[in-house]
Formats: sequence, C-alpha cells, structure tokens
Amino acid sequence: MSIIASKQKVNVRFLGRSSTEVTGSIILVECPTGEKILLDCGLYQNANLLESYKVNTSKFDFKPSEITFAAISHLNIDHLGLIPKLFADGADFPVYMYYHNIEFVPIMLEDSAKIMERDSVTLTRRYKKEYLPIYSQSNVDKAVSHLLGCAKNEIIQVTPNVGLKFVPAGHIFGSTQIMLYIKSPSGHIDVVSYSGDIGNIIFEQPFVEDFEPIIKSNIFIGECTYNDPLRSAKKENRSKDLEIIESVIRQTIENKGSVLIPCFALQRMETMLYTLWSVFHNDESFTTQIIVDSPLAVKLLDAFEENLEDGDAKLFEMILGWKNIKIIRTIEESQSCVEDTRPKIICSSSGMLTQGRSILYLKKILPNPKSAIITCGYMAEGSLGWKIKNMSNQKTITIDNKPYANRCSIHSLKSFSSHMQFEQLINYYTNLSNNGCQTICLVHSDNGKLNFKKALEDNIRKIGKTTKVVAVNKDTVTRI
Ligand SMILES: [Zn+2]
Repeated sequence: MSIIASKQKVNVRFLGRSSTEVTGSIILVECPTGEKILLDCGLYQNANLLESYKVNTSKFDFKPSEITFAAISHLNIDHLGLIPKLFADGADFPVYMYYHNIEFVPIMLEDSAKIMERDSVTLTRRYKKEYLPIYSQSNVDKAVSHLLGCAKNEIIQVTPNVGLKFVPAGHIFGSTQIMLYIKSPSGHIDVVSYSGDIGNIIFEQPFVEDFEPIIKSNIFIGECTYNDPLRSAKKENRSKDLEIIESVIRQTIENKGSVLIPCFALQRMETMLYTLWSVFHNDESFTTQIIVDSPLAVKLLDAFEENLEDGDAKLFEMILGWKNIKIIRTIEESQSCVEDTRPKIICSSSGMLTQGRSILYLKKILPNPKSAIITCGYMAEGSLGWKIKNMSNQKTITIDNKPYANRCSIHSLKSFSSHMQFEQLINYYTNLSNNGCQTICLVHSDNGKLNFKKALEDNIRKIGKTTKVVAVNKDTVTRI
C-alpha cells in the first residue's frame, strides 16, 4: 500500500530492507515543521557477501546532512551498523540512545569495521576488482563522538517541535522502543512510535530490563519477526530445552566428546552462560570447562560487568566467578584450546557460524561422532549454521572450501529467541488499536507478514476498531 507523501503532515518512510526482510532497519520520519528524524540505521546482513556489500554501499535515500537527529533502538548491528556510513557521507547530527548502551556502541562498531575490512579483502580477491571497506575506524570514531545517552521513560525535547522518549523493549540489554511527539504548526501533537525489536516475554531474559508496553500512539511501527503461530515457542519449550542441554552435555562428556554452542556475542552469550550456570553450578562433580572464545563476546562481557546494576551485577559476578568458566583472552590461548582434545563445552561466535572462532572449533567437532553441537539462535537461510542445522543427512559439509565429515550429533533449542512471539505480538498491537492507534505499520519480517496482517486485522475488528494495518514495502509512505 502506498500513500502519497504530504508536506503538511508527518510522513514515515521505510528505507531499509527491514521493510520486507528481518534485517537492515532504517526508517525516516519527516515532520510538518521540517525536522527529519532517523529511527535506526542498520546494516543489511545476508548470507551472500556481494549482495550485502551492494546494499550497504548504495546511496542513502536521503541526504545525511539534512537529518535533524537519529534515535537508535538497540545494539544489534542490523539496527545501528550503518551509522558510521552516515558520518562518512556528511552527517553532523546527534544520535540518541538509552544511556545504558553508550559504552557498548564503540565495541560493536569497531568489530563491524574490522569485519568490513576483512570482507573487502575477500571480495577483492574473489571478484578481482577493488572493493573498499564500507567504512573505517575513523568513521566509527566520528559517529561515536555524536552519541548522546538518555534516560528511559522521559520525554526529551530535542527541538521545539519534537520530543523523544525511550521505553524498555525487553529484547536485549539496553533495548528500547522509541516514541516521537511531533507538534504540527497548528499546535496539535501526533505520536509516532517504533517497536525496535521487542522481547520474548514468555521466558526469563537474564540481564534485560522488562518490556514495557506503549499504550497510546497515533502511528505504530511494529516488528513481526514471529509472524507465524506455528514457529512461535510455547512455555513448555524452555523446560524441554533445559533437559536437552543437560542430557546432551552429560552424555557427550561421558563419551569424551566436546559440545559446541555457537552464540551471538551480544546477549546470547550472557544468556547461555547464565543457563549453563543454572543447570550445573550446584553439581560439585561437574568439572568440565566452559570455554568462552570470541574476542567480541569477551569485550562485551567486560562491558556488562561495568554496566550492570544491583542484583544483576551480583548474579553476573557469581556466574563469571564460577570455577568452570574459562575466558580466552589471547590468540595463543585460543589456538591451544582448539587443539586440546579434552572434553569441553565451547561457547563461541558467530552464532550463525558465518565467521569467527566458532568455525575453528566446528572443524574439530563436526567430524567427531562423540561430539555435539547445540544451536540456540536464528540461522539465516544459506548460512553455515543453517546448513548444519538443516542438512543432518548430508555426509559432508563444506567449510572454507573443504569438505568435513558430518558425524557429530546436532541439537536445536527452541526457546532462546529474544523476539516477542506471535500471540503476544497480536495482543500488544490489538491493545494499541483499542487505545486509538490509527495506523500500525508492520516491519522486520519475511513474507509471512501478510498472514500476520490478516490475523491482526481479524483481532482488531473483533473488538470493533478500525485501525489500519499496513504490511509495508520499500515504497510505503505512511502519513498522519
Ligand atoms: Zn535485535
């Protein structure tokens, strides 16, 4: 659905690939008084390196120099990974975030700049043509110098006509939803809200502030990653997952094998360490080492240690102080750990096995029938992690152009998604409708979004409301 943009209204444009996919969030809000506000500026991440590169290097659909300010929902790279490119392309505006995130941003973006450098070398070698990195560390430094931290649940009057508020989203540490209070020349105020990514409220999320619903908004831009009730996890999935973790680990260690748990470096690592600690810390006879080997994850663990407060800080200290946990801090330690054949549990990134140290361990674990892999997160179709999860009947799996025997056992956990599940999304968005929301725009989803739209509309009509539900595409402009 496309609505003609208007100069006297608030226009919302969906510029990133999150308009039609589960990555690359970039949304532009144009105010009737001239302010232009960016909500998130995320990197596009796809298993095809060249396609991702092309999308991420294409020109922005706006002039960065014309943006008034940006507000960023959370630390995942598909929500903030293109901010340095804004500054490489002439931006000079403040970037607002919930203050808990501020120390984490340079860590995430530095890592992203390093990956870009490596990817540019790979592409240049592969296609025999020069591919420059999308941005450099100096662009990261410039972006970081424009960051401003804000409290939660307080309106900050950024310009005379635009107020900004961050509301906890419960997705990962520091994650928020974003509310804009936009005054028109006649003095009327419209509220435009954006969910960012919202948390999975059925399961315990250690070190994450609880999700708080937004009650009233004129336009609501909502994620619907879990657009299918069949893919959504149920409460009982967590207890089953805990049983899988315990039985697979005990059995594998008894067989003298090792267990690889590929984890996203941010938040999933903390959640998994908490889970392993909960399952095993009371068992004195459990002496197997739990290896944390990922330079990014280790930097983030340190940042968590600095930034957690009260009970969370104590719990975190207790987990990291657990005798079983071994944090790898040097490349030499990592190399000898990879070669060490003693049974162990390895938590390493990347979560989708697309890069990083997890691949070095994978090459040892995959051919060993006594070992196991436990997957606990989303695997993009085509990624190595996706192949390992879905092609168990294949005799070999190719890693770095070499075939490896596919002999270890593979187990997948269902309850570790950090996104709100189908039923809770439908309830949340229906409540917004009940409180007068005029338009709900669905983003951050695959094609299943159309079924989600239908289910949401049916629910909204049931309570007698007429809220418009828009399954956005890249040309959608919503106005109010
Ligand atoms: Zn996210």
